[in-house]
Amino acid sequence: MENNYTVLARKYRSQDFESLIGQDVLVKTLTTAINTGRIAHAYIFTGIRGTGKTSTARILAKALNCLSSDHATSKPCGKCENCLAIAAGQHIDVMEIDAASHTGVDNMREILDAALYRPTNARYKVYIIDEVHMLSTSAFNALLKTLEEPPAHVIFILATTEIRKVPVTILSRCQRFDLARVPVETLKKHFAWIADQEKIELSDGANELLARAADGSVRDGLSLLDQAIAQTGGHVDEASVLDMLKRTDRGTVVNFMQTVLSGDVNAALNKLDEIYNNGADLTMLLNDMMEWTHWATRMYPSLRLQDATSSPYTADQREIIKKINEKISLNTLSRIWQVMIASVPELQASGNQKQCFDMLIVRLMHIADMPSIPELLKQQDKEVVQVKIEQPKPVVEEKKFIEIKTSADLANALQQARELLLYSYYSSNLEIAEFTEGHIKYFDRKDDKEFAKKLAIWLKEKTGKLWNLEKLEQSTNQETISEHAKSEITSDPMVASAMDLFKDAEIVNISK
Ligand SMILES: [Zn+2]
Repeated sequence: MENNYTVLARKYRSQDFESLIGQDVLVKTLTTAINTGRIAHAYIFTGIRGTGKTSTARILAKALNCLSSDHATSKPCGKCENCLAIAAGQHIDVMEIDAASHTGVDNMREILDAALYRPTNARYKVYIIDEVHMLSTSAFNALLKTLEEPPAHVIFILATTEIRKVPVTILSRCQRFDLARVPVETLKKHFAWIADQEKIELSDGANELLARAADGSVRDGLSLLDQAIAQTGGHVDEASVLDMLKRTDRGTVVNFMQTVLSGDVNAALNKLDEIYNNGADLTMLLNDMMEWTHWATRMYPSLRLQDATSSPYTADQREIIKKINEKISLNTLSRIWQVMIASVPELQASGNQKQCFDMLIVRLMHIADMPSIPELLKQQDKEVVQVKIEQPKPVVEEKKFIEIKTSADLANALQQARELLLYSYYSSNLEIAEFTEGHIKYFDRKDDKEFAKKLAIWLKEKTGKLWNLEKLEQSTNQETISEHAKSEITSDPMVASAMDLFKDAEIVNISK
């Protein structure tokens, strides 16, 4: 590769309105306005990063000042002195200010004072202020003053990723354009064209992955493409991009979801270990699993959307999803989605993502396993036990209710039912003030609003009775179950003497 490699985003930066990627509405509106001489004094461009705000600002500056015409033109030549200087960011009358790097912009007033003077070489003095939302209050006030009575030869072009942080007083004086996220198909076309120009191989699958990962940003997509070219020496295929993005391919995700929903905990956790050991990014994996859930829902037969072919899955993969859909309810899919969505911040905050993900899988399996409440009610009404064919294990077992009379009973029952999350929360955060069958009076140290709801549903299902969970506002200063177990152990004479022997010892785990 050449030494002076120019990054693709810069090399292929759009130089005129026609080559702006995916911003058709903006292009049409702006070019019409320029052609009919309706030029505003201030524009504001907003949109996520890499959608072409700064490129559009420069093109507009060229359009206003191109020497190929004696007035502003929607087709700047790109060759005249003004066009070249503006493209290089070196024109004396086109000021580019990055508010992100001059937050205070103390000299904003000085910069704007100069606006009063006529342009030196251009028709218009153009101020391009990038990330304008980052200006200080005093800088905004200076800007507002100029915007209120702009000299005829001055044009402001503001750009921001966070439009809500721009004062309304400024916004109301600007013509606003929202730059859309660039669609996957448009990005793919653009990347394929660039690959062609650069004479590199870019497989369709790899292109699709890059375009999706770019999430609507041309610049992000092109820097990924840069990276892929550097890593593969110009033979960019699906496998190398998957590897680079630490992504698991869709086929694996589809098979993984099949295992998770089959109810075989062991197989699912083993498969997860395998995916993890192959270097998958777990946040991405969750993303892919959510994508799966979204499409499985859209492909659900009773919804009759029939848009399976627009899904990103191959025919074989769609067939697997169809089979899974025959076995699970729409309700289950939507509960799976809820649990996944709730896990996104959890996963990000967790110091140990793998642990968090293991627990997520267990939770998902539980959902898939559990008949929904309407289903339960229906069964009680009819008193019919349905056995579905092809199910790895019968979903509906004959209901045997258990008795729970003490807090210890409940802890044991939770453990036996492998309700690990409920169990660990119950045993480490709850102070039990009173416990009789059907009634628990407790104080929750972590005050999790969802916990009592989940526990009550579980108790109703297991005992066949309604439970009243009464939460206390004040701590009762009682031990939780795990604290109790610990103090019981330490009071054992054997353990006490062992603790005496090892002064710094601490009990960290108790196993029976
Ligand atoms: Zn020109």
